[in-house]
Amino acid sequence: MKFIAPVTRNQEITATIMDLTYEGLGVAKVDDYPLFIEDALPGEEAKLLVTKVGKNFGYARVLERLNDSPDRVELPNKSYMQSGIAPLGHLSYPAQLKFKQQQLQNVYKKNRLDIEVLPTIGMAEPKGYRNKAQIPVRQVKGQLETGFYRKRSHELMPLEDFYIQDPEIDRAIVIVRDLLRQYHIPAYDEARNRGVIRNIMVRRGYFSHEMMIVLITRTREVPQLQNIISGIVMKLPKVVSIMQSVVPKPTNVVLGRTVKKLYGKTFIHDQILGHTFDISALSFYQVNPLQTEKLYQTVISAAHLTGKETVIDAYSGIGTISLSLAKHAKYVYGVEISEAAVADAKRNAKHNGIANVKFQQGLAEKVMQDWREAELDVDVLVVDPPRKGLAGTFVEAVGIMKPKRVVYVSCNPATLGRDIALLQEFGYHAEETQPVDMFPLTQHIESVTALTLD
Ligand code: SAH
Repeated sequence: MKFIAPVTRNQEITATIMDLTYEGLGVAKVDDYPLFIEDALPGEEAKLLVTKVGKNFGYARVLERLNDSPDRVELPNKSYMQSGIAPLGHLSYPAQLKFKQQQLQNVYKKNRLDIEVLPTIGMAEPKGYRNKAQIPVRQVKGQLETGFYRKRSHELMPLEDFYIQDPEIDRAIVIVRDLLRQYHIPAYDEARNRGVIRNIMVRRGYFSHEMMIVLITRTREVPQLQNIISGIVMKLPKVVSIMQSVVPKPTNVVLGRTVKKLYGKTFIHDQILGHTFDISALSFYQVNPLQTEKLYQTVISAAHLTGKETVIDAYSGIGTISLSLAKHAKYVYGVEISEAAVADAKRNAKHNGIANVKFQQGLAEKVMQDWREAELDVDVLVVDPPRKGLAGTFVEAVGIMKPKRVVYVSCNPATLGRDIALLQEFGYHAEETQPVDMFPLTQHIESVTALTLD
C-alpha cells in the first residue's frame, strides 16, 4: 500500500508543539505524522507552513506563534539560532539543563536501562564560554567577511559577535579579518575552489590568556604573509603562536593533517585543576574551561581512587584526565590516536612533574587488546571516546580485563546507552549518570557514568 502523508508541501496548518527532538527542533503531529519545526517549544500553538514532506516525517516553519512557552527566552540576535551557533538559544537556561537530563533519561528508557540521571551541572553565566573558534572566510558583496553559514546553506552571513565564544576570540577574528582586507588577500571561493584564506582558527588559554591563530589556506603561498604576521603580533600582543594549515581540495574538513609554524611557539598554555598544559593546534582540548574543571572533578570522584590503583585513561587527548587522576592513583596509562596529542601529553606530564603516567599512541581498541594480552592488571578504566562511542573490540577487551570500575565520559547519549547495555552483558552495572553542561545553548550533552562489576 502506498503511504500517503496527511499533509502536503506548502499547506498551512495550526498545531501544538508536543516535544523537542534531541537536536532541539519542535515536534508537532498530524495524525501521528511528525513535523519538525525550528524555533518552536512544547506547549506552543502555532500556524505552520509545511516546507518538506518525507516518507516518515516532514518539516514545517512557524508563520505565527499563537502563544509563548513559559520557557521561551529571546536571544539578542535571531541569527544565532538560524546558524546553529545556539540551537537551544530560545529555551531558558534552567529548561536547557532539564532538557539534557531528559534526553539521557529517554535514551536509558529506550535501552531498558535503570539508571538515575542527576540534574545537569550548569554554568553561572552560560555564554562566551568557548575557548576555540573556527570561522569561515568568504567574499560577500565584494568584501572579505568572517561569519557563519545559515543551516543548509552555502552563503556566508557576516557576524562579529558569536555570543558563545570568548569575547577576546571574537575580537581577534575581527582584527585578523581587517588585516586580510587591508592586504587584499583573496577569500576562499568554494564554488570554484579558488582564493587563499579558507578559515581562521583561534584558541585562547582561559587562565594564561595566551592565543594561537591558525590560518587555514587553500594555497601554500599567502601574499603579504610577513605583513599579516607582523600586524597580528602588533595588534594582538597575547598571540604567542601563529600557524598555517594548507587544505588544497574542496572539502568540509576545516583543518589539514599538518600545521606549519609561522610565528612563535607551536602551542599555547592553559591550566586545569592546577596543572599546566601545552595545547597544540591539532590536539583535542575541551572547549569550555570552567565546566571542564567540574567535569574532571566529577570523573575524579566517580573513579573512587585511594592511591593504590592502576588506571587506564582511554582516549586521553593531551593527558588532561590522566594527569588529574595521577595524584590519586598508583599509575595511569593513557592511550590516544593523535600523535600531536600524545606528544603534548608526554610534555605535559614532564612539565607538571608527574612520573606515574605513561602515554601510548594508537587506536584505543587495538592497544586495549595489547594490554589485555600483556595481562595488565587494571583497577579503574576511564573512557572518553568521540561521538561514535566505544568499538566492539574495545568492549570485549574490557570484558576480559574486568577492571572493577569503568568511568564513562560521554558526549553522545545514544552511543553511551548502547555501550552501557553491552557492558552490562559483561556484568557491569551503573547506578547514576551526572550530566555536566559543556555546551550551553547547544543541544550537545556531556555526562559521566560510573559502572561497577556486579
Ligand atoms: N580525555 C581527553 C580527550 C577526549 S576527546 C580530554 O578530556 O581532553 C577524544 C579523544 O579521542 C581525542 O583526542 C581523539 O583524538 C581520540 N580518539 C578518537 N578515536 C580514537 C581511537 N579509536 N583510539 C584512540 N583515541 C581516539
